[in-house]
Amino acid sequence: MSSEALPRANGNDGPIETDAVIIGAGPVGLFAVFELGLVDIKAHVIDILDKPGGQCAELYPGKPIYDIPGLPIVSGQEITDRLMQQIKPFGATFHLGERVDELERLPDQRFRLKTDGGKTFVSKVVVIAAGGGSFTPKRPPLAGIEAFEGTSVFYSVRRREDLRGKAVLIVGGGDSALDWTLNLQPVAESLTLLHRRDDFRGAPHSVEKMRELAAQGKIRLLIGQVTELHGSGNRLEAVTVKTKEGEERLAVDALLPFFGLTMKLGPVANWGINLNENLIPVDTEKFQTSENGIFAIGDINWYPGKLKLILSGFHEAALMAQAAYKIVYPGKKLLFQYTTSSSSLQKKLGVT
Ligand SMILES: Cc1cc2nc3c(=O)[nH]c(=O)nc-3n(C[C@H](O)[C@H](O)[C@H](O)COP(=O)(O)OP(=O)(O)OC[C@H]3O[C@@H](n4cnc5c(N)ncnc54)[C@H](O)[C@@H]3O)c2cc1C
Repeated sequence: MSSEALPRANGNDGPIETDAVIIGAGPVGLFAVFELGLVDIKAHVIDILDKPGGQCAELYPGKPIYDIPGLPIVSGQEITDRLMQQIKPFGATFHLGERVDELERLPDQRFRLKTDGGKTFVSKVVVIAAGGGSFTPKRPPLAGIEAFEGTSVFYSVRRREDLRGKAVLIVGGGDSALDWTLNLQPVAESLTLLHRRDDFRGAPHSVEKMRELAAQGKIRLLIGQVTELHGSGNRLEAVTVKTKEGEERLAVDALLPFFGLTMKLGPVANWGINLNENLIPVDTEKFQTSENGIFAIGDINWYPGKLKLILSGFHEAALMAQAAYKIVYPGKKLLFQYTTSSSSLQKKLGVT
């Protein structure tokens, strides 16, 4: 499913108050929406990626997985799509392209979370399903690039309109570089796509479209590398590009390098939760961290015997939800029920 079709929260008019925030929209974060939904807990899901699916969708969308119970063979993208379908009845709100940077406990025992996109959440429970950490763009090895990041150098595009009328240089040969070339060409004043080889790894139809635009003179395609950045303060003005023909100084307002992503633990390390070698130790009854009300499930957690498998994360999500219920609905008793036979669960699932 395309991320465009997902319900998203709009704007930033004060904190978003909710029962649960799930950090990470990998397979385990997605299944947590389901398990929380069955016990009447509404969730907001935040992920730095612009699509759900975590490692499955980002690292191996086309590869087959053979050890998901009941699905003898399923690709990384297909399991993501199936999970999205399965959690649909619970109407979770997705905040994609946002990284959770801050997490702190409030005096009333709820939690405040802040994203790098300026959103604030206040939640009764927090579920960390951050996998191997946040996907972080690889920074090109160019002297002084840090000074221009966020003002002239962008590793993702939040609002296409921000680049209207700008001289844009996109560097890379994968899907992101190609998709943004096609997307930004109509709004940019000029657009150059630069790749070190005349061979693109992206989807064949995108490569074809890009080459059409180049043949029509609507974009410029260069084969080579950026060797130097020129600008003043935090404003980039030009770059030196080295091609087979020699060196060229190219006037540029915005540089978008798409060199792939690496996984880094990122901000999780700053939230005051006990860590063990970049993993979060949890108990195996509730999958709770050292902080009451903060749970950790999936690849990010550790306990004796832990296996970093999707099915382990699914089990952890089920038990986490039982414990989260006691925090969200203190004093209320939770009845154990089967989806097969419980009419109340079936009503929540919209199947009756
Ligand atoms: C090539 C490959 C093949 C694999 N094959 C199998 C297999 O056959 N069977 C199997 O069971 N497992 C397999 N795995 C492992 C499986 O993909 C992981 O166990 C699974 O993805 C873990 O899911 P998760 O939801 O815990 O984390 P992830 O899938 O890592 O998702 C975590 C998400 O959290 C986000 N995130 C992290 N920090 C933040 C933050 N601060 N703010 C916002 N977002 C954040 C990340 O961007 C990411 O999208 C394979 C892995 C790889 C790489």
